[in-house]
Amino acid sequence: MGAMRYYSTRKRAEPATFARAALSGLAPDGGLYVPEDIPPCRAAVKTSLPTMSFLDIAFETLRPFMDADLSDGALRDLCAGAFTFDAPLRLIREAPCGPPVRRILELFHGPTAAFKDFGARFMARMFSYLRRGADKPLDILVATSGDTGGAVAAGFSGVDGVRVTVLYPQGRVSPLQEKQIAGLGGNIFALAVQGSFDDCQRLVKAAFACAPLREKLDLSSANSINIARLLPQAVYHCAGAAAFLRAAPSAAPSAVLSVPSGNFGNLVAGLYAQAMGAPIARFIAATNINKTIPDYLESGVYRARHSEPTISNAMDVGDPSNYERLAAHWTIDQLRALVSGAHASDEETRQTIRAVHTRTGRILDPHSAVAWKAADALIERGAVDRKNVIVLGTAHPAKFAGTVEPLVGPIPVPPQLAGAEGLKAHSRVISASGEALLDALLG
Ligand SMILES: *Cc1c(COP(=O)(O)O)cnc(C)c1O
Repeated sequence: MGAMRYYSTRKRAEPATFARAALSGLAPDGGLYVPEDIPPCRAAVKTSLPTMSFLDIAFETLRPFMDADLSDGALRDLCAGAFTFDAPLRLIREAPCGPPVRRILELFHGPTAAFKDFGARFMARMFSYLRRGADKPLDILVATSGDTGGAVAAGFSGVDGVRVTVLYPQGRVSPLQEKQIAGLGGNIFALAVQGSFDDCQRLVKAAFACAPLREKLDLSSANSINIARLLPQAVYHCAGAAAFLRAAPSAAPSAVLSVPSGNFGNLVAGLYAQAMGAPIARFIAATNINKTIPDYLESGVYRARHSEPTISNAMDVGDPSNYERLAAHWTIDQLRALVSGAHASDEETRQTIRAVHTRTGRILDPHSAVAWKAADALIERGAVDRKNVIVLGTAHPAKFAGTVEPLVGPIPVPPQLAGAEGLKAHSRVISASGEALLDALLG
């Protein structure tokens, strides 16, 4: 087998190696990079999956996607550096010794208490590795309205050879968000822009278009559509399916993964894992009222729309960027055989959080609650067997205390969020002008 090649979903760009696809993010024709085909995992891995460690599963899942770009040892080191936390599969019961009513794959034990840590931390270390030996650092510029900035900052914090500059609108992010963006220091620089989020985005775009700046600095972005951020998410789908099989051995795959979805990176990664041979029967594409993809699965017509604000706001996406990847790999009929769509309104999401807490003591965050409710809807229709459902827990509920606490009472804060509270923000205030940004970057 030759080295894996990556194609643009719009097909007008030249195929690229993994390294090139990762470092450029978007393809030159504006498309997203996808692997030319999805490699099967090794036969020996399939049989030993239930007894493998998370890091061994990570290595076996990622190895064929980046075979020409790094050695086995380098990939193992990258995985060990990125995946410093676990993704436990928890059984939720109504009575202490009763049968489990559901399983949750907890993806929120990383530094920002959300599943995006898997992708962000792997991508950061991959960038650093691919740039080893370069004579200047890679400069990542990010504009944020609050949340992404903290996740990117945490992902890159302390990573060699990479400097991150986060632009955020001064006074318009929450105090905790400001600490997450501007409290880490080291290779993470925070600029408090005297303006709006739109000003921050405009300044970043202007910086990328500025030839003299690009001569002095190696600029890059760390956007969410990067293939190096997507592939590591296939790892926890494999690991979750392995844990399910360990508990309930069966000849045919039976796990049904309910995935809280917005831009659909998580779901595409799951489909990759399944295509590689992970023992997963089906997926549930669970959305809030921004149900472009569930509607697409039903009607066969993709209709992008404006997003509506909801309480599961990380999923408020009307035109999901990874639709291009879905459409590049699978026809609508193929997708329907793999994925069921379902959505939940804010009212249903709140009811679910309340009812699950009352019945089981478990506190869901609004995103995971959407996935729980979507699974309920499909169980009621007889489309899915209750005992096979795994809900992907994408965030810790303490991140959304303002929404969740009125429904269930106080939520204990996990250590990684408590730690951010104790940080002190150090940012440089700049005016919303290109010259001010140049000064800050070059000065
Ligand atoms: C980003 C996010 C999602 C949506 O994930 P996609 O990969 O964009 O579909 C779901 N839940 C939480 C908590 C998120 O932060």
